[in-house]
Amino acid sequence: MGKLVFWAAVIALAYGAMKFLARSQRRGDAAQRGAAAGGKTSEAMLQCAHCGVHVPSSEALFSGTRAYCCSAHRDAEA
Ligand SMILES: [Zn+2]
Repeated sequence: MGKLVFWAAVIALAYGAMKFLARSQRRGDAAQRGAAAGGKTSEAMLQCAHCGVHVPSSEALFSGTRAYCCSAHRDAEA
């Protein structure tokens, strides 16, 4: 009987540890996604000098100090 209780406790502990690990792993992924999303949204947004659409600075095209959403708009202003 003592042995049965022992194994029940071991299984319960293993189950609890598995659930805890799964939960902490999910939380880690969510935090990673949040950081990635935060990095994206914290990027400076620039307004296209031609159509006024906002584009991330990494995707904007520049002509002098003016930013454009695409090469067509940059060429249209030039
Ligand atoms: Zn544009």
